[in-house]
Amino acid sequence: MQTMRAMLLDAAHTLLNLADLPVPMPRAGQVLIKVSACGVCHTDLHIMDGELTEPKLPLVLGHQIVGTIFEAGPAAMRFQVGERVGVPWLGATDGTCRYCLRGQENLCDHPTFTGYHIDGGFAEYTLADERFCFSLPAAYSDVDAAPLLCAGLIGYRTYRMAGENVETLGIYGFGAAAHIITQVAKHAGKRVYAFTRPGDSDAQAFALRQGADWAGDSTQLPPEKLDAALIFAPVGPLVVSALQATHKGGVVVCGGIHMSAIPSFPYSLLWEERVIRSVANLTRQDGEEFLTLAPQVPVKTDVKVFPLEQAGQALEQLRQGQFTGAAVLDLNLK
Ligand SMILES: [Zn+2]
Ligand SMILES: [Zn+2]
Repeated sequence: MQTMRAMLLDAAHTLLNLADLPVPMPRAGQVLIKVSACGVCHTDLHIMDGELTEPKLPLVLGHQIVGTIFEAGPAAMRFQVGERVGVPWLGATDGTCRYCLRGQENLCDHPTFTGYHIDGGFAEYTLADERFCFSLPAAYSDVDAAPLLCAGLIGYRTYRMAGENVETLGIYGFGAAAHIITQVAKHAGKRVYAFTRPGDSDAQAFALRQGADWAGDSTQLPPEKLDAALIFAPVGPLVVSALQATHKGGVVVCGGIHMSAIPSFPYSLLWEERVIRSVANLTRQDGEEFLTLAPQVPVKTDVKVFPLEQAGQALEQLRQGQFTGAAVLDLNLK
């Protein structure tokens, strides 16, 4: 039996272990992918920390997978062996629930999420349902493409939820999603105000390099009011800060899958038709749209690469905010 190296999570609140696992066999409709790069995401930390409570265990994390088709299972005919594909968080849906039937597959009642319900990309090989894979724009290297698959896709859905009528956009939490969406927003002619952890001058300088018009502490108010604010940091009190910074009718969009509790706040902050909303997952249409848009902007991803064996260090550095941009496991790095 052929084996592969994988970083395995045995249980919440434990560290990842390097393991030798059997290379899985593709079933009907699945493809076996040889992984070349996999992005690291805050959601991986929420799974490790037990904040997302229903992972398959033991589990291979990782839901921003770039690789090539190694083998197609029975009836899998969409891609050729050797073709490059991307695998996102949305691994499969039931296709039959009321949400799927209404074009809201991101809200599916019986979803399968990559690197959560099924093994993901912190491994040399992974399986995917071919219907949920994406072709990737040729302009990107494997490592540079990886952050497009969650930070990019879900960041883009978050950005779209802000609505059409946005001239001034605030972004709270300046990591992987923010650095991509700043470029998209500037390309669309918006003024972008970036908020970081108080005193994080590295992240603020990074935001300005990505094109933000202003960068400051999340405790500050921006130089002008915001039409919309996107929150990418999992910090509930930022919802209140963002409401304080928005115009009448402004929208505050929470882009993460988990957030600490939102403190109570006076109704006057919400009054005047301000809106708070969340974003859940992605649809394949989001993916197709964003992956078409990204090379047109063109979005440039800023990545810090780690070898597979250092997935744990990558996650810890992400937690501590020790690098700017996106962390990516490069499977070709030893
Ligand atoms: Zn993610
Ligand atoms: Zn469904």
